[in-house]
Amino acid sequence: MSEILEIVKNQSPGEPEFHQAVEEVVESVKPVLDKHPKYRNHKILERMVEPERLISFRVAWLDDNQEIQVNRGYRVQMNSALGPYKGGIRFHPSVYGGVLKFLAFEQTFKNALTGLPMGGGKGGSDFNPKGRSDTEVMRFCQSFMAELARHIGNRTDIPAGDIGVGGREIGFMFGAQKKISNQFAGVLTGKGVGWGGSMMRTEATGYGLVYFAQNMLAVKKNSLKDKVCIVSGSGNVAQHAVEKIIDLGGKPITISDSSGFIHDEQGIDADKLSFIKDLKNNRRGRIKEYADKYSSASYTETKNGDTENGLWHIKADCAFPCATQNELGKKDAEKLVGNGIKLIGEGANMPLTAEAAEIVIKSGILYSPGKASNAGGVATSGIEMMQNYMGSYWSAKEVDERLKKIMSEIHQNCLDAAEAYGFKDNYVAGANIAGFIKVADAMIAQGVV
Ligand code: NDP
Repeated sequence: MSEILEIVKNQSPGEPEFHQAVEEVVESVKPVLDKHPKYRNHKILERMVEPERLISFRVAWLDDNQEIQVNRGYRVQMNSALGPYKGGIRFHPSVYGGVLKFLAFEQTFKNALTGLPMGGGKGGSDFNPKGRSDTEVMRFCQSFMAELARHIGNRTDIPAGDIGVGGREIGFMFGAQKKISNQFAGVLTGKGVGWGGSMMRTEATGYGLVYFAQNMLAVKKNSLKDKVCIVSGSGNVAQHAVEKIIDLGGKPITISDSSGFIHDEQGIDADKLSFIKDLKNNRRGRIKEYADKYSSASYTETKNGDTENGLWHIKADCAFPCATQNELGKKDAEKLVGNGIKLIGEGANMPLTAEAAEIVIKSGILYSPGKASNAGGVATSGIEMMQNYMGSYWSAKEVDERLKKIMSEIHQNCLDAAEAYGFKDNYVAGANIAGFIKVADAMIAQGVV
């Protein structure tokens, strides 16, 4: 198995996030490969770690001072065995090929877990929307789409949002793509409700995460009621995770951004969450303002994602990392386990470092990997695609019911796959195995392409 990792490290040097994601999957699927030699014979892993296509392009645009800015855009079309490429677009200065390859690799398994016909992809740019005016963001999105448009299509590749790409950016990119293609064809998901978007898409990742947690707790005859929850991030996923935790009777007490976190011992309620949504989605301010407004909250600054002595050290029942990759390290994991945390549900993609994940898995607490517990977002994107193909809309209630059902099926599939291959109750192994088998069998059926 280590040969696969060697190949990846040689062919993709300097891409630690991609190596980390591959290593986790390779370890999980070893018993599957041992039991079914066809996967080794067909060189499935060797093919899975090589993107079907990797596009990198120049994005030149004019800022408000009429200065020319140059960024780099990417689309990683990882695997189309199960359907057209599907995955978000990230705008963040940390974006480079390695981050997008890790995300596209994870996405392939995640999309398989949803049971919907979607392959895996991911894209983005090192563009930083922070501090940019709406018109600058629009010009950037238009230039980005001027190139990306030739590589995507509603039966080819359907991007969505991710870090730094919300409703505003999807709107600008959709408008540009529509103009270039002269077709209103649902080539992006996460569109506004009323112009092709699905009800509940905005909420879906955070809600789905909490539904998944509810499923895990139910196995232990427990629930979210009265559970104290620590949540990181304050973007799309974190906001809607907090919303659903409140809805189900839990008590969220933290939220964060890349500058720091707030700790509100009285709990974040619906009114306080409205303040957060306005602060982050409309005013695009810093989370520190929460503590300036609510005296029940304290604010702690963090440096460059460093969580040492940070929010993971606060005693709680459940933890939901919803910001970014590798935001929760070894010491944080030790602290969480030492403090008696009952559940960790990943809202972000790969928020735990490999060392942190190992500690958490060994401890035996309930722990769901992002590729399973944040799959509600892409599942609802799939539901948006269905509505676009049919040219109709479904109600919020109907979409929410489908989301709940999908999350519950993913949960069960993870448990079943884990048990079948000797990893009982290990959701990480279960998600990797269930996703792998689905994609691998489709690849074998489709021949060497
Ligand atoms: P947003 O851009 O809406 O929010 C991201 C949040 O994380 C912000 O609060 C941001 O802080 C914080 N953050 C970003 N980078 C860092 C960093 N390096 N250190 C500390 N904090 C950071 O993104 P989303 O909520 O959409 O995405 C969050 C995570 O969830 C990502 O891992 C994404 O891949 C994953 N995800 C998202 C899905 C979706 O539907 N949106 C679907 C599945 C997974 P600041 O405000 O300072 O930038």
